[in-house]
Amino acid sequence: MKVLGIETSCDDTGVAIYDSEAGLLINRFSSQIDIHKIYGGVVPELAARDHIRKVIPLIDAVLKETGLDKSSLDAIAYTAGPGLVGALLVGATVGRSLAMALAIPAIGVHHMEGHLLSPMLENDAPQLPFLSLLVSGGHTMLVDVRSLGNYKILGETRDDAVGEAFDKFASVLDLPYPGGPSIEKCARYGQPGRFRFPRPMSGQATLDFSFSGLKTHAVMEVARHKLDEKTRADFAYAFQDAAIDALVVKLQRALKQTGYSEIIIAGGVGANKLLRERIDGLAKTLGVRAYFPSLELCTDNGAMIAYAGYLRLVSGYEENLDFSVFPRWSLESLPAIDNVIRFESDSIS
Ligand code: AMP
Ligand code: MG
Repeated sequence: MKVLGIETSCDDTGVAIYDSEAGLLINRFSSQIDIHKIYGGVVPELAARDHIRKVIPLIDAVLKETGLDKSSLDAIAYTAGPGLVGALLVGATVGRSLAMALAIPAIGVHHMEGHLLSPMLENDAPQLPFLSLLVSGGHTMLVDVRSLGNYKILGETRDDAVGEAFDKFASVLDLPYPGGPSIEKCARYGQPGRFRFPRPMSGQATLDFSFSGLKTHAVMEVARHKLDEKTRADFAYAFQDAAIDALVVKLQRALKQTGYSEIIIAGGVGANKLLRERIDGLAKTLGVRAYFPSLELCTDNGAMIAYAGYLRLVSGYEENLDFSVFPRWSLESLPAIDNVIRFESDSIS
């Protein structure tokens, strides 16, 4: 079964083809960083317009590169939410229309479910159940991935997402968008200990996060200093140190609470080297395994949408021709994917 996956929930247009027999055939994306960087953040209307420009050429390119004809596709999966409404509508409309023209099923996929299941696309895949730390520009959450489709949010941010906090603080430091990689690069030259920022909520038992207090504290501290090269690097160091610490403290607590021995990290902030080092250190100390999906599966991508869509389709999940997108959509409201194996063997035979 070959599923075309389309991701347009935010600022990356992603298209991929997952084949149930051969695995992931191709995963391509087009980034909008150049469009949004002068604004220091994603501008929803510009995001939607660029998806319109990119999505069909990207679908054509993916088919051409794999040598497949549209007629060999068995289904289309697109991101139905959560995300920016205009951006979501582009992928949903194109995905639904193409499916209708080809007379194949289409399925709207939950973006976060895609992220949670993306490490299963790797050769070295984790075993369910596992703990997932989702850290992106729009989300920060710890999720108990109990079984396919059965997710429990253990903690999430009460205000800014961690990636968003990186992006906002980077603009205060006059560093280019996206802020995460810029702060990481600048922090390499920072002096440890010159500034120390708070680790929000880290002393509290809850597994929720908060990053707006850290951001406000950091912004006020910057206002008190002359921003020369050295001071900028020292601020970048202190911010990264505090933000990553705040994540790792809660991750450690969640591991203790669940007793799980496998953790996966997903989302763009998962690219951060300090985060990877600290989680690796924690995993060694606690004797658990940490999985970091490859960068192309970590950020927003069509592969995870194709794969999650495939799992739902083979479990017998069906949608009619009406469709909606869901800018807000609870991960916990999803139905379980409980009969994959039965349908998978049916469809192969
Ligand atoms: P996503 O929302 O998954 O597409 O990821 C984008 C977010 O990840 C943006 O907020 C980036 O600033 C952030 N990000 C990307 N690379 C890094 C990094 N190396 N360190 C911290 N944050 C990062
Ligand atoms: Mg993105």
